[in-house]
Amino acid sequence: MSVLVLGGAGYIGSHTVDRLVEAGKDVVVVDSLVTGHLAAVRKEAKFYQGDLADKDFMRKVFTENPDIDAVIHFAAFSLVAESMKDPLKYFDNNTAGMVKLLEVMNEFDIKYIVFSSTAATYGIPEKMPIYEDDPQLPINPYGESKLMMEKIMRWADEAYGIKFVALRYFNVAGAKPDGSIGEDHHPETHLLPIVLQVAMGEREKLQIFGDDYNTPDGTNVRDYVHPFDLADAHILAVDYLRNGNESSAFNLGSSTGFSNLEIVKAAREVTGKEIPAEIATRRGGDPDTLIAASEKARKVLGWKPEFDDIHKIIETAWKWHTTHPQGYND
Ligand code: UDP
Repeated sequence: MSVLVLGGAGYIGSHTVDRLVEAGKDVVVVDSLVTGHLAAVRKEAKFYQGDLADKDFMRKVFTENPDIDAVIHFAAFSLVAESMKDPLKYFDNNTAGMVKLLEVMNEFDIKYIVFSSTAATYGIPEKMPIYEDDPQLPINPYGESKLMMEKIMRWADEAYGIKFVALRYFNVAGAKPDGSIGEDHHPETHLLPIVLQVAMGEREKLQIFGDDYNTPDGTNVRDYVHPFDLADAHILAVDYLRNGNESSAFNLGSSTGFSNLEIVKAAREVTGKEIPAEIATRRGGDPDTLIAASEKARKVLGWKPEFDDIHKIIETAWKWHTTHPQGYND
């Protein structure tokens, strides 16, 4: 049996491929390399460059790899601000792409899919922490595109018996501890990589978007999870489906919240750098606080995240940034 990883050259996908290879699994990777990096993909994995919405291309992948019985799907656009400006790009690539993928999976009788969903499907939650059955009312096209993908999978399960696990991630941060793979986005919009770019002197200062939120220090509170821990959850989710379990959704977070100011403080402690920061106006679309209730993943999947300390997470990201100041440089 082998696993097909869509988007395996991306940030979380490449960490998952690494973990699968380390666990001795057969892995096939598909990535368009629009945002991914070939250098991030372990050489032991069989690599195809292409678009999952290209049905003939996907038919070729499944025909050439008849051992594939499960798909892990990371291949989506994920920038909230971009999705507000160009929603159709998200509904086309993410949502319509899912329809094409499921059509070909059904043709080839592939019955398992593990899907990267997001906390952005919850919108502005009424209470914390967030549970899987809380209302999903996204406030941006990115979150909406992923919620639609969840719904499409649900009906594909009903009609064709394709079982799915939707993993709703909270904020992902960190890199492989040996510094060989990490986060490399162009443009970079996420808090921790930007903080570390300031620490490296690549940016003059950090702008903290708002300090008048309804949180203890006024800055947004987020729940950070390491890509290795996410990777392990995906591998457990594939096993869960292979064991004949029903389709389900799981939150993945550490269940602990850190404010943006606390992240900057921790990054100063880890890096020993000053990291100049100023308060700027709100970015728009940021809920006050997002913290996951992730007991369900721990109980049902047996998920045991290792990186439960924000300093450890930042240390891994710092190692990547200091050894790869230009990212993958591709
Ligand atoms: N943020 C910030 N300055 C930046 C980038 C992000 O203050 O240069 C804040 C952002 O407003 C949010 C938090 O950091 O409160 C996490 O944002 P990020 O984009 O990393 O992840 P998101 O929560 O949007 O998934």
